[in-house]
Amino acid sequence: MPKDCADLPPVEELLTAAVTALGGVERPGQVKMAQAVRDAIESEEHLAVQAGTGTGKSLAYLVPAIRHAAESGDAVVVSTATIALQRQLVDRDLPRLADALEGLLPHRPEFAILKGRRNYLCRHKMAAGMPDDEDDQLFDPREVSATGRMVQRIQEWANDTETGDRDEIVPGVSDQAWRQFSVTARECLGAQRCPSGAECFAELARERAGAADVVVTNHALLAIDAMEDFAVLPEHDVVVVDEAHELVDRVTSVVTGELSESTVNLAARRAGRLIEQGVADRLQEAGEDLRALLAVAPPGRVDTLPQSLGMTLALVRDAAFACITALGPRNKDKDDPENAGLRKAAFTALDEVHDTAQRMLDAFGPAAGRDGAGDDAEDTGDPEDARDSAASRGGGGADARSEEVHRAEVVWLEEGRGRVPPTLRVAPLSVGGMLRDKLFGDRTVVLTSATLALGGSFDSLSRQWGLRSGEWTGLDVGSPFDHPRRGILYVATHLPQPGRDGLPEAYVDEIAELIEAAGGRTLGLFSSMRAAKAATEALRERLDVPLLCQGDDSTSQLVKQFAGDPATCLFGTLSLWQGVDVPGPSLTLVIIDRIPFPRPDDPLASARQRHVAATGGNGFMAVAATHAALLLAQGAGRLLRSMDDRGVVAVLDPRLATARYSGFLLNSLPPFWRTTDPAKVRDALRRLTAGS
Ligand code: SF4
Repeated sequence: MPKDCADLPPVEELLTAAVTALGGVERPGQVKMAQAVRDAIESEEHLAVQAGTGTGKSLAYLVPAIRHAAESGDAVVVSTATIALQRQLVDRDLPRLADALEGLLPHRPEFAILKGRRNYLCRHKMAAGMPDDEDDQLFDPREVSATGRMVQRIQEWANDTETGDRDEIVPGVSDQAWRQFSVTARECLGAQRCPSGAECFAELARERAGAADVVVTNHALLAIDAMEDFAVLPEHDVVVVDEAHELVDRVTSVVTGELSESTVNLAARRAGRLIEQGVADRLQEAGEDLRALLAVAPPGRVDTLPQSLGMTLALVRDAAFACITALGPRNKDKDDPENAGLRKAAFTALDEVHDTAQRMLDAFGPAAGRDGAGDDAEDTGDPEDARDSAASRGGGGADARSEEVHRAEVVWLEEGRGRVPPTLRVAPLSVGGMLRDKLFGDRTVVLTSATLALGGSFDSLSRQWGLRSGEWTGLDVGSPFDHPRRGILYVATHLPQPGRDGLPEAYVDEIAELIEAAGGRTLGLFSSMRAAKAATEALRERLDVPLLCQGDDSTSQLVKQFAGDPATCLFGTLSLWQGVDVPGPSLTLVIIDRIPFPRPDDPLASARQRHVAATGGNGFMAVAATHAALLLAQGAGRLLRSMDDRGVVAVLDPRLATARYSGFLLNSLPPFWRTTDPAKVRDALRRLTAGS
């Protein structure tokens, strides 16, 4: 412990100073959370804290984190899921907090933001003018010119930027344009070998992070740091995972592998510049075989490996390996940076193709290539129908169960869209074991969000994180909002169950009546873009309030318009369920069209559900109901954003009140006053509108 830190003020005193300086109000939930975070850090026990909107949870974890950093001399890592929260922390909360605590701590708290390498401009790639990997853009002149304009903007920005951080470029640029100026961590030459290493933006960001007390990062980089055998983040013994309800999905994305004609061609092109053309051509031919096969294969989960696919994957793998061998030793060009850059890029793409093809073959284990086993027999619409289907199937059920129990990864085919060809993906059925070993293993982790206790318990999420009982504590500090007095949860039990064929007419009528009573002011959260568009189209003719639909403009622009005019309504899907923060009268009514279960054809969710069932659990509750509860709670959480807010959450899907699983879902929602009476709700909305 640094000498002058022996008498640091207690967390409570620092929190009071911070809240006073920031002009806020100290809330009991915030104090309770700060104390619990302090205790977790001191006892080195993981902590999950649910803290409702308005608790001031950022300060509640930042204050004990900064105190710990001052005391131990080690950085604390704060990980977020969204850029919006990263910005809020780095641009608003942390500078003000540093000012507030400066006089109470031995030094002014330092903070830094650190992202993955591909988010920073690579000076070497820019200077060396590395060959453009994209070739398929040539077919569409409009895209070529759009990309060309973005490339020009990046070049202009590159002359002035001090951080090289892609997020500085407003409006943003496409991945395709950005790829020409950036490298992944694997493609990077390493600062020692790179001629631009001394002034590398990614290295400078790491240096700043190394000197900081608080390092803000994202879940993806946190996962990479935990899983790779090289350190990406500075030394740390405490991690705070904010927006922790997103952790599993973000980590799953990081470890999802993909294989398509494009990824194979890219590797072949990169290799072709360096090795005998015939060897690279064989990889390209294998890519063409893959394209031909995937073009006619049905999209969705691949439960058993068809012989043709098995052979093609093996062909791709072996052709990639031949290219890797032809490239020779990996450090051959260490004194020739330009060539070393090309070789590194080729190795990275070839390794990716080789390892992913092997991983896909491994996913089918000893049963690979066998005909007929594990055919689909579920996905009937309502996810509850699919419950335990693998475990209960007759004929070959024991084999299928055994395969399910031992299966570790799932492979699926995604349909091609526009210029993106059909793509095979592979992802683990669970990232819990990985998180348990790599993230929770030798650090104290504090996980927090407004939504962690599903069905009133942290168990669902802690299982997904791989935590066992006794290894963590859970705390719900509640919310400062008076939910029963300020909000109504209305379930439209008189409506029919939602069907597969679009939005029922009765739903459109119900939405129209609710919006009329609310005088606009409505956020419509739909479970599909198709439903959002259908509702928008039908209601624009019937209502005389402005109706915006996601996709009409950028989401941030639409939310701004919605927030600025109380009469305006905004309809949309997934990103609105979690991303809208509109306090005040512009948002008085949240309409949810149906319980947001994963789509029955969602390959990962359905495979996970089936796996849980095959291992003796309740697949439906563990996967589909948990997913729905999380999104419902997030969606309902859009309603009350400040102490003065009031309003209604209207769920049109009657199953929320009638189905067997409804108790679990209802217990995941804030404790609003509940009703199923449409007349009462419309009266309440009229009163609210008249009073605002
Ligand atoms: S060290 Fe890596 S990221 Fe940095 S400039 Fe060199 S190659 Fe690019």
